[in-house]
Amino acid sequence: MLWSLIKILAFVAAITALTYGGTQLMEVDGGMTVDVAGQEFTLSPLEMVFGLVALVVIVWLGLKLLALLVATFKFLNGDETAISRYFDRNRERKGYEALSEGMMALASGEGHLAMTKASRAEKYLQQPQLTNLLTAQAAEMTGDRKKAEETYKRLLTDEKTRFVGVRGIMKQKLSDGDTDLALELAKKAFAIKPKHEETQDVLLRLQAEKADWSGARKTLGAKLKSGNLPRDVHKRRDAVLALSEARDVLDEGKTIEAREAAVQANRLSPDLIPAAIMAAEGYIAQGNNRYASRVLTKAWNAQPHPDIAATYAEIAPDESAAERLKRFKALTKATPDHPETKMLMAELQIAAEDFPGARRALGDLVDTAPTARVLTLIAAIERGEGADDSVVRGWLTRALTAPRGPQWICDNCQHIHPKWGATCGNCGSFDTLSWRTPPENEVAMPVGTEMLPLIVGRSAPSDVPAEVVDADVADAKDDAPAKPENAQAKTDK
Ligand SMILES: [Zn+2]
Repeated sequence: MLWSLIKILAFVAAITALTYGGTQLMEVDGGMTVDVAGQEFTLSPLEMVFGLVALVVIVWLGLKLLALLVATFKFLNGDETAISRYFDRNRERKGYEALSEGMMALASGEGHLAMTKASRAEKYLQQPQLTNLLTAQAAEMTGDRKKAEETYKRLLTDEKTRFVGVRGIMKQKLSDGDTDLALELAKKAFAIKPKHEETQDVLLRLQAEKADWSGARKTLGAKLKSGNLPRDVHKRRDAVLALSEARDVLDEGKTIEAREAAVQANRLSPDLIPAAIMAAEGYIAQGNNRYASRVLTKAWNAQPHPDIAATYAEIAPDESAAERLKRFKALTKATPDHPETKMLMAELQIAAEDFPGARRALGDLVDTAPTARVLTLIAAIERGEGADDSVVRGWLTRALTAPRGPQWICDNCQHIHPKWGATCGNCGSFDTLSWRTPPENEVAMPVGTEMLPLIVGRSAPSDVPAEVVDADVADAKDDAPAKPENAQAKTDK
């Protein structure tokens, strides 16, 4: 209501002002004289104002007309018109439809359909980086390796898809067993994407397989940096690689460098048995027996192992059996109940010809863990105590079929290795060998020559040659009283 009143009042005021202005202008004297082409126009002040307003309107209209003309010109040239945009959108829609159908086909395992859809999508979309991916996957699925490889090679040409191409070809080479080329491709893939975990693993495995230890250590470092490896695992694996490096350097005859590398590996992982042994051997060669004892004792406390004991013996090769027995007490002080300690002490007692002492040292191992080594030790004790030959033979016979006790076993494929190595000789896994007892169903191996290294040295034992043991098996079979059970009862008295 008030608003309408204001509007009416404003209208009346405007009319009044205009009328007033008009009459004022009419009353003004003079005017403007315009001289156009010899003709003279005389304008009064009022006509001048109307003329100005008309001029403004004409200029505005002219600009509008010009814009319309430009639009018409563009339309006639066919530039970005609604019609062409419509067709483009239609193509794109068809392309993406084919692409999504192709992906569905891939997910549902229809490789051939996926391939057809991929080529249709390619026709409409003209985006090779999208459709090539689909084609490569579909070709892999249908087992069309040639097509897959071709597509991977096309992916190599584009910066954005190069990694996928390299990885695809690398996997093909890996499955072909062409590890040389696979290694080169893995290096390339690693250079493009250093944080890609799968690439790191493949590269590390191949480098370890090819004994490129320093390269493998770099890859391991990258794994740690990108957070794909816990720090303690990195330390342990770095130690394994450092040790492998040390072994290679030693093979080249560079003993000093090898010693340093072994000491470094031992420092990284004091419980890595072969590293401790190699470091200790270096110390022994330098005459640093104290350091050698220290690293060996540390490793023994983490995991008692016969090789550690053998190296510990090398510290003083010429000592008497009694001296050795005394010195080894320091090594086994912290692990008195470990089977390895018991067997070691029994071996040393046998060497010192204290056979009852050896039996005491073995304790209840013959019942709790009757391994081939324990049974052979019992046989040696029986012989030392002057038991009947048939009794000794009985124990040795039993030893033949007894479990062998802990060995280097691959955690991945359960393959048993006679010696420790950085990679599994069977499945190629890295750092999977651990010293443990194989599963129950493991076939017992005949008693080898390495049974009693501390008693008879590292050569074949003169007491129990393998062939004699073999011959004894036949004898023992029809030798009833020689059964170990009977022998046990006899000796217990
Ligand atoms: Zn393995």
